[in-house]
Amino acid sequence: MISIAEIKEFGIVGAGGAGFPSYVKLSSPVEIFIVNAAECEPLLHKDKEILLHKTEVFLKGLNECIRLVGAKRCIIGIKGKYENLFQHLKTCCDAQIEIFPLNDYYPAGDEILLTYETTGRVVEAGRLPGTQNVLIHNVETLYNIGKEEPVTTKFITVGGDVKNPMSVEVPIGISFREVIDAAVPNSTDFGVIVGGPMMGCLADSLDEAVTKTTGGLLVFPRDHILIRRFKTAESAKDVTAIGKSACDQCSMCTELCPRNLLGHPIQPHTVMRSLLFSADPFEASALAAHTLFCCECNLCSLVSCPEDLYPAQACIMNKRALMKDKVAYKGEAYNKPHPLIDYRKTPVKKVMAKLDLVRFKNHGPLVDFKHRPKQLKIMLTQHIGAPAEPVVQIGEGVTARQKIGTVGKNLGAEIHSPMDGIVAEVTERYIVIET
Ligand code: SF4
Ligand code: SF4
Repeated sequence: MISIAEIKEFGIVGAGGAGFPSYVKLSSPVEIFIVNAAECEPLLHKDKEILLHKTEVFLKGLNECIRLVGAKRCIIGIKGKYENLFQHLKTCCDAQIEIFPLNDYYPAGDEILLTYETTGRVVEAGRLPGTQNVLIHNVETLYNIGKEEPVTTKFITVGGDVKNPMSVEVPIGISFREVIDAAVPNSTDFGVIVGGPMMGCLADSLDEAVTKTTGGLLVFPRDHILIRRFKTAESAKDVTAIGKSACDQCSMCTELCPRNLLGHPIQPHTVMRSLLFSADPFEASALAAHTLFCCECNLCSLVSCPEDLYPAQACIMNKRALMKDKVAYKGEAYNKPHPLIDYRKTPVKKVMAKLDLVRFKNHGPLVDFKHRPKQLKIMLTQHIGAPAEPVVQIGEGVTARQKIGTVGKNLGAEIHSPMDGIVAEVTERYIVIET
């Protein structure tokens, strides 16, 4: 039986999102435990593969969590389209675990939407599922808890314009280049999106290192629409200028916004309107404090807006500035779900068609990763909270799973060496290990 102290000691964090330390989430009792197996980003498959091929360890982790938080109900939210997996889980899980078939829409994996879909409970804007007595964990996080050892590997789907799309378990700290090479890119001139095609970000360099939260490495031709749009989205000046000149206030971004449909006050079209009356780049406005409730799903920019503008980035810019200035929202936090919420969900098929992803469709089968890296770069911040402090020195020998960084009593996650090796470099940001 694993304890909260061991989950902390093993450096286990949410593997599907921002990397929130799991020991904190599991420290309070809760009524309903939900497994987020939605994997709603197109082209990603690693969670489905873990459920299929690592079922025993996943279920061990799940049962340990149910015990730790004393949950009375457990629901696994998974896409109904995976019929085989659905049946597989039905066969393997205890009868009291509910397996909930989700429709194939984006963003079904958003925690607030998942809570609503599976329980009918609406989390108020700005609140967490805990306020509805619900706790959500991702598939890989539960797998890591089931393993009962320090987190030193990461499951990643490598997809897009590659010969062998695949899901692999790789050592943390390996370079993007080495992981992508295993899937064999179809060209040498490509851009890489880290994470999913909707919420991911452009990789600055192929020398970047895999962390505890890297979920996907998607390769696209340099002139692919996603690479072009992600590049423009990085420039606040361009996002503002394009929005000012082209938004016709059709409000499709708001009509299809998943959080707005749930009854939260977020209205991206009004943020776009306010671009007209602000400096260039956009000056944050407390009048649009409802942007604090944007979940950054990027649906409005990449799919809903018929003119391919950047309402999500306008909302996110405003949200970041308000958070920095500690400005709070003062209006009503919640109305009620839109009567047409079930008819306005955005199918993943539509996302794939709009973003030219259909030609990269794959099943991301789990394959053995045979390449042995010569060097690992272990980042000291792979989680929410304080960075870890190195506890090793240059020249020191380390063994696999040995602790090399600690957060002490701060919120954060301990860091361990994935392989035997020698410490070659120690900085404030990372530790390099020659294996
Ligand atoms: S959908 Fe596009 S054009 Fe329409 S209001 Fe939103 S940003 Fe403007
Ligand atoms: S990114 Fe756009 S669609 Fe998504 S929550 Fe924010 S405003 Fe709504």
